Amino acid sequence: MSVAHGCGGNDAVLSVEAALELLLAHARPVQGTERLPLGAVLGRMLAEPISAPVDLPPWDNSAMDGYAVRGADVADHPDHSLAVSQRIPAGSRAQPLEPGTAARIFTGAPVPAGADTVVVQEACEALDDGARVRLPADVTSGHNIRYQGEQVRAGAEVLPAGTRLDPQHLAVAASVGRADALVRRRLKVAIFASGDELVEPGHPLGDGQIYNSNRTLFHALLGTLGCEVLDLGIVADTPEATRAALARGAEQADLVLASGGVSVGEEDHVRPAVEALGRLDLWRVAMRPGRPLAFGQVAGTPFIGSPGNPVSLFVTFCLFARPFIQRMQGMEPIRLPRGIRTLAGFDLPKPVKRREYRRSRLVTGAGDIPTVEAYASNSSADLTSLTWADGLAIVPEHRTFNAGEPLTFLPFSELLS
Ligand code: AMP
Ligand code: MG
Repeated sequence: MSVAHGCGGNDAVLSVEAALELLLAHARPVQGTERLPLGAVLGRMLAEPISAPVDLPPWDNSAMDGYAVRGADVADHPDHSLAVSQRIPAGSRAQPLEPGTAARIFTGAPVPAGADTVVVQEACEALDDGARVRLPADVTSGHNIRYQGEQVRAGAEVLPAGTRLDPQHLAVAASVGRADALVRRRLKVAIFASGDELVEPGHPLGDGQIYNSNRTLFHALLGTLGCEVLDLGIVADTPEATRAALARGAEQADLVLASGGVSVGEEDHVRPAVEALGRLDLWRVAMRPGRPLAFGQVAGTPFIGSPGNPVSLFVTFCLFARPFIQRMQGMEPIRLPRGIRTLAGFDLPKPVKRREYRRSRLVTGAGDIPTVEAYASNSSADLTSLTWADGLAIVPEHRTFNAGEPLTFLPFSELLS
């Protein structure tokens, strides 16, 4: 894969939309597929459409426990009572309905030929130990029957290729008789964290050291997307170590993600290392937190580098790496966060230059209307802000803002599923 110069060159400031568009233009779905039992494909991307070989429902059936009758027969009987001529539990075969009689019927049982309605049992009175039934006076035809093919016609596609298989999709596949599905192979993503200051949790902290939280964050974020992770660990702030990690990741994985070391400081080795092995664009995206975002390729394998600050990593992953990964996984259409329109619970007297993705949570405001409360600090090192928040409020650039004005909120539930 190559990234064209001229579009988002190294000094350009890109809007979030432009950066995402550029990024997605370079995402190619992985080609391998595998056929697996339905029980093993939760969260995977369907590689071929699934169609219904039969009508759904396959035959007319009752939506209620009750009595199947021909509506017109009831009015013919002065006391609205009919003999019960057969009993049809679910899973049995129905005989044609004898004219002028009722059939005891249960939910999911086939409606007998000749019946045109089912009367719910609560509206009926069983007589003579169930040998007869008294029906209401006003029985009308066409009730409580699920007609053959009313949900799906034989031959119709029920799941298109590219569907991410959530529980409801698996149930639909099963309902048309499928025991397995052809899915794209899992995406393998290499990760590493740059920084001489990093120590793995579980070890004591030395002078000047901090714990590596990004490794855990990467694992968990990639887990929500069902990726396989190739963990390259902590990479020292040297050109050699950075090149070695990049080369290994590029060779063994479909995508390489890195945190830290992507700025243009003396200790930031990711940019020159990627440039030595492939090519790189460092995008200044007009957003907070999160810039810069490094995107490129190493020996043909795409590379995304995020700032080391954990909150920046979290936000850039959700906004950029996640949709990129979805496209590489073969998800179609990808699920860009739609967000919800809600009301700001804060003022912004001075306009911001870059769009802000503020760590926020929804609280119930005046008149029971959900309102966005923003986290006090904007520090992108402060991970606890993300556990305080339950989403990101989008604060538009170049304008002031008053409490009570409409605002878009991206719930974490949407970004992390
Ligand atoms: P960098 O992008 O390398 O300049 O790092 C920016 C900030 O993020 C610095 O304060 C780093 O110490 C911090 N940081 C970098 N990598 C990690 C990591 N894996 N876990 C936690 N903090 C990190
Ligand atoms: Mg660093």
